Amino acid sequence: MSELIFEKKTNDNTQKRHAVSFETDGAFDLSKILKKDYMREDTPLLPSLSELEVMRHFTGLSEKNFCIEKGFYPLGSCTMKYNPKVNEWAAFLEGFTGIHPHQDDEDMQGALELMYKLQESLKILTGMEAMTLQPAAGAHGEFTGMSIVKKYFEKIGEQRTKVIVPDSSHGTNPATAHMCGFEIVQIKSDERGQVDVEDVKKNLSPDVAAIMMTNPNTLGIFEENILEISKLAHENGSLLYYDGANLNAVMGITTPHDMGFDIVHLNLHKTFAAPHGGGGPGAGPVGVVERLKGFLPVPVIEFDGEKYFRNYDLPDSIGKVKAFFGNFGVMIKAYTYILMMGMAGLKLASCDAVLNANYLKEKLKGAYKLPYDIPCMHEFVLSAENFKEFHISAMNVAKRLIDYGVHPPTVYFPLIVHEALMIEPTESESKAVLDNFVDIMHKIAEEVQIAPELLVEAPHDTPVLKVDEVQAARQLNVRYQKA
Ligand SMILES: *Cc1c(COP(=O)(O)O)cnc(C)c1O
Repeated sequence: MSELIFEKKTNDNTQKRHAVSFETDGAFDLSKILKKDYMREDTPLLPSLSELEVMRHFTGLSEKNFCIEKGFYPLGSCTMKYNPKVNEWAAFLEGFTGIHPHQDDEDMQGALELMYKLQESLKILTGMEAMTLQPAAGAHGEFTGMSIVKKYFEKIGEQRTKVIVPDSSHGTNPATAHMCGFEIVQIKSDERGQVDVEDVKKNLSPDVAAIMMTNPNTLGIFEENILEISKLAHENGSLLYYDGANLNAVMGITTPHDMGFDIVHLNLHKTFAAPHGGGGPGAGPVGVVERLKGFLPVPVIEFDGEKYFRNYDLPDSIGKVKAFFGNFGVMIKAYTYILMMGMAGLKLASCDAVLNANYLKEKLKGAYKLPYDIPCMHEFVLSAENFKEFHISAMNVAKRLIDYGVHPPTVYFPLIVHEALMIEPTESESKAVLDNFVDIMHKIAEEVQIAPELLVEAPHDTPVLKVDEVQAARQLNVRYQKA
């Protein structure tokens, strides 16, 4: 029997000792701590392989995968921009990887300084007065923001039970508001793909806590009436929440604060070049205006002019939303990106993202239906509805793109466009790549008429061919099965 002792200094400077005992002789007996249900009955079929065999296996798997380094990745709403490798270098610096969040503030001044300066940069880009980096993703940021909305109205003693979301909103908006106990009111978009102001007016009642909006919205269209909507919301005593997933269109050009928003989440893994896809990790910082500052999760990272420190003393705080600081590695990558770009570079990135999207939109609008034919921001939505008579769907187009080495765009979202193909080229791509994509899309549109079976059977040479989407969704069996 051995014993490991952990010692920890507490706030009143007394030492706390934790002892953990474990058996050192022979195998660890899991049956003493795990329920029988969780124990396997037979020994697992584990391969016994050399390092070379393992390397070949994983290198082979990596080649089967798709990534931004391999080809064009216009996955709308997800901002699959290139993630500069210098970000990885910075995240792996020993000064960052070698620290532990339980160390004292004075032992990790560098890490705290990085988080503080990242917060300050994001405050400039959003116009917000305070920021937390804790949430682990956009959806988690929304949950944090909606928790702040809830606590705010509790504090000022107002009963507000409803949250308004547009019908073009991302599914996480109504989902997170619902998780925080709000009733969801959906409002319509008008024929120009924007929130219908009259419908906002009709639905703004004294029990509306917040309106959640994305601007530019998920159709890639700038909400021109945003100032009127924010005025209406504030006159009604409601808060305005900004889903910042589309910030890549407006960096350095305008801010959510200038549009009248009170709470903002950002997606560092989208706009700020931290890699994503494959499930994370991400980071979804949340910024707020002055009057909501006290509700942020603890600890907040502060600077007293000499030292950076964690402040837990926020009486109205909603509490913690994530262990320690959040996903610190993602913050290093995002801050490196911001430093590399500078504010002028970030603005240029947004301008190029908007330019690239408009270029593609204009080149593709003849061959595909364009439901909203107005200048777009960083992305736009086509429809494959004009292929219906050939029995071809947006999904068929998406799968055929794989044959041409292009990652499919986002399909069937936003829900208000039938057979939606949502295309976001990002600023990273050259004109040659965009022109090649235009050629491929035109070729596919021709195939729809002359060889639709090519689309129906696609993809033709991927490791996994066309999958049965319905069965895949209904029968979630991912276990290895012996042939
Ligand atoms: C990606 C996205 C989200 C959710 O962000 P995650 O980081 O994936 O949780 C919310 N809204 C919009 C518009 C998005 O594109």
